[in-house]
Amino acid sequence: MRKRLVAGNWKMHKSPSEAKAWFSALVRQRPNTQAEAALLVPFTHLAYAKEVLENSGIHWGAQDVSAHREGAYTGEVSALMLCDLGCRYAIVGHSERRSHHAESDALVAQKMLRLLEFSIVPILCVGEPLEVREAGKHLSYTLGQLEASLAGVEPASPAHLVVAYEPVWAIGTGKTATPEDAEAMHQAIRQWLARRYGTAFAEETRILYGGSVKPDNATALFSQPNIDGGLVGGASLKLDDYLRLLLA
Ligand code: PEP
Repeated sequence: MRKRLVAGNWKMHKSPSEAKAWFSALVRQRPNTQAEAALLVPFTHLAYAKEVLENSGIHWGAQDVSAHREGAYTGEVSALMLCDLGCRYAIVGHSERRSHHAESDALVAQKMLRLLEFSIVPILCVGEPLEVREAGKHLSYTLGQLEASLAGVEPASPAHLVVAYEPVWAIGTGKTATPEDAEAMHQAIRQWLARRYGTAFAEETRILYGGSVKPDNATALFSQPNIDGGLVGGASLKLDDYLRLLLA
């Protein structure tokens, strides 16, 4: 019922021209699979993504968006600009932005509102740091983050929201949550979404796992009942690995 999504978060990697060649290779080599492919790339790569990926069935998007609609905000990129470049998705609340740029849940909620005004689907990242996991408080921490980041946010349908559970201690570290631990969190997130938006909405909302997903651990993670794919950093940069993730 929920279409698997394998979303690559390229972070600040590759030049625009390298990206263009990579997109073309993906279009040529894409396996015949039911999984949806999406690439979240630097702003500078988006025009090439539109040029190469348009009408390919592969989606693209950004890694952030401004909380403002327009105006004197030097360096910011608006949801309107992303919409014009054909973005289907944008990441909000990635832990690297929360920690390096002090982004609060309230700011994340504002960004989600801006995206939804243009029907760009937010991929909302939540997840606990190591000390919270070690203290056994990961469920309440992550659900609290979800609640605060979705304050005042009413997506028109489950197709307008993706949640990514990304335990901070697993991002870029090579450490992955066990499929069982990840599934327990995903189940709790879905139950929370049911309380907030209703059961039918929750059942159709995709919840991705992120944190050192690789071709050799993806099948075990993605086969959990509440894990609907992955938000993948490092492994999405290598075409062979990304192709294998689409087949996991
Ligand atoms: C991420 O960037 O969201 C991520 C999960 O990175 P990695 O797969 O490299 O851990």
